[in-house]
Amino acid sequence: MPSEQAEIGIFGGSGFYSLLENARDVWVETPYGLPSDRVALGEIAGKRIAFLARHGRDHRFPPHAINYRANLWAMKQLGVTRIIGPTASGSLRREIEPEHMVVADQVVDRTAGRKDTFYDGPITTHVSFADPYCPQMRRIAAAALQSLGITVHEGGTIVVISGPRFSTRAESKWYQDAGWDVINMTQYPECYLARELEMCYVNISLITDYDVGLPGAPPVTHAAVLQVLARNNERIKTAIAEIARTTPGERTCNCGRALGAARA
Ligand SMILES: [Zn+2]
Repeated sequence: MPSEQAEIGIFGGSGFYSLLENARDVWVETPYGLPSDRVALGEIAGKRIAFLARHGRDHRFPPHAINYRANLWAMKQLGVTRIIGPTASGSLRREIEPEHMVVADQVVDRTAGRKDTFYDGPITTHVSFADPYCPQMRRIAAAALQSLGITVHEGGTIVVISGPRFSTRAESKWYQDAGWDVINMTQYPECYLARELEMCYVNISLITDYDVGLPGAPPVTHAAVLQVLARNNERIKTAIAEIARTTPGERTCNCGRALGAARA
């Protein structure tokens, strides 16, 4: 598979395929096995895009069973330098309401047992992850969402849980008391593995629910999440397309040099 097939990678739901012009599908083999599905290569507003359904097109991989390393490696192999990672997320704060979007700037990993590094030796590699999300792409994404009239929260901390179960009330209260904003099951290690491969990563959290434990709000259910996703499918697609369209070619961030200080 020759590189430089695409410049921007998108992980998302299968509804996004219709965004792409001149799309064709490719399987990308990686040293970590196959990614979640075929990658669709196509264009949005003249930009070369690689799209991959992180759960598979038929949604067969739950969050804890996704081969994140294969998914990220496939993007890198296709030449991708920027990744847009929209996710459905729960809100941990009253003012972050369902159907709002959050451009996160921090992440807390509460997952367990996921394969979350490409660097198992022999070259020991400690990658800085103080600022997990690309600052340039965050600005671009927030501006794009605002230009579409979407209520967007700039900045926010995502706590990532293993799933597939939702939180208990006590866990959710703990996350709220810690001051975290949004909860999700797939951001880690997806965002981190992008950094290990020196790709920019930006998350757009579409808020689908209030998790559990916010007084007066019913506990999250999968059915309710799907309803909000269905209602917001077109908004999300329009938002992703606008982010891709307004992403300039030049990278002004340090994501592409992440390994520079990571090895002795
Ligand atoms: Zn970057």
